[in-house]
Amino acid sequence: MLFDLNQLIRPNIARLVAYSSARDEFSGEAKVFLDANENSLGSPLSKWYNRYPDPHQKALKEKIAFVKQLPPEHIFLGNGSDECIDLLYRCFCEPGKDNAIICPPTYGMYEVSANINDVAVKKVPLLDDFQLDLVHLENAVDANTKLIWICSPNNPTGNSLHRMDIETVLNNFKGIVVIDEAYINFARQKSFVQELADYPNLVVLQTFSKAWGLAGLRLGMAFASAAIIDVMNKVKPPYNINQASQELALKALEEVGQVNDMIKLLVDMREALAEVFLSMPTVEKVYPSDANFILVKIRDARKVYEFLLTKGIVLRDRSNVKLCEDCLRITVGSEQDNTLLVDAMHEWYALNP
Ligand SMILES: *Cc1c(COP(=O)(O)O)cnc(C)c1O
Repeated sequence: MLFDLNQLIRPNIARLVAYSSARDEFSGEAKVFLDANENSLGSPLSKWYNRYPDPHQKALKEKIAFVKQLPPEHIFLGNGSDECIDLLYRCFCEPGKDNAIICPPTYGMYEVSANINDVAVKKVPLLDDFQLDLVHLENAVDANTKLIWICSPNNPTGNSLHRMDIETVLNNFKGIVVIDEAYINFARQKSFVQELADYPNLVVLQTFSKAWGLAGLRLGMAFASAAIIDVMNKVKPPYNINQASQELALKALEEVGQVNDMIKLLVDMREALAEVFLSMPTVEKVYPSDANFILVKIRDARKVYEFLLTKGIVLRDRSNVKLCEDCLRITVGSEQDNTLLVDAMHEWYALNP
């Protein structure tokens, strides 16, 4: 396959001279730091926070590299995956000229971020079984198509996309293929992070927001060739990952065992919740899920949604989304959350026999 990264980078980004921060120009040990206009006296919080954070997140990346078993040069950290999504547009898509392909129903940020960046979006809907439509995907690609977004496991449908289909896209598309693996820890499928050597056009996104339980820290990861990571580093704001997030994520990474226990519990509860919903009289379908949520097709979805709201329970109403008609997306909650939800559903059926 012909892949030429230099053909894909936006010309202004290729020419860009990256900002050189104080911490870029001097990063060693010193007694006195008077180079960054920080408050040398400290802060109301702790001494640590008066200093700018490491713009390259060296310690954190080394730890992630160890956990993910790949070199730190292949890791980019963003202020949530959402920053990675935005950056990929800004690195590769010329506003008003280039386009990206998304496969709805899928995560909404791919389209919003394209719109923000004035990048055209081509939609190639998933098939009825929520798998990739390879024929239409191939037809949609033109000379200005720079990115194809693949979300697997997909949000909001919950399923993993067939690995062979993804490989077909990777093997045949000369632009960048982004595989968003936000939910990979809940999946039976294996991640694509170990395939970077085979695919110079691959970017894998993962996040601390789901399985790691750290949505509040805003920390997303992109894994790609060192060349792609270099481009993203050039474009990112110098201090995009704050000191507190870097420290706390480092600490969390010591607790892989605890996270794995939570994942196992959430997967068990997902299967139990799916079974309970499947047995409900107006539930037409519970789609198989590889994520920490289930998509449920239910009669009067909007009314059920509104009833649950009156009980203080919030689901995601996806009933207006194409291919998700009458569907509610339900995040797997704690044991107590799930019990409250199921009890409220029984109440609904008592009122609507
Ligand atoms: C939740 C989610 C993310 C996570 O975004 P963050 O900005 O890292 O919180 C990314 N992609 C998909 C598909 C998601 O559902």
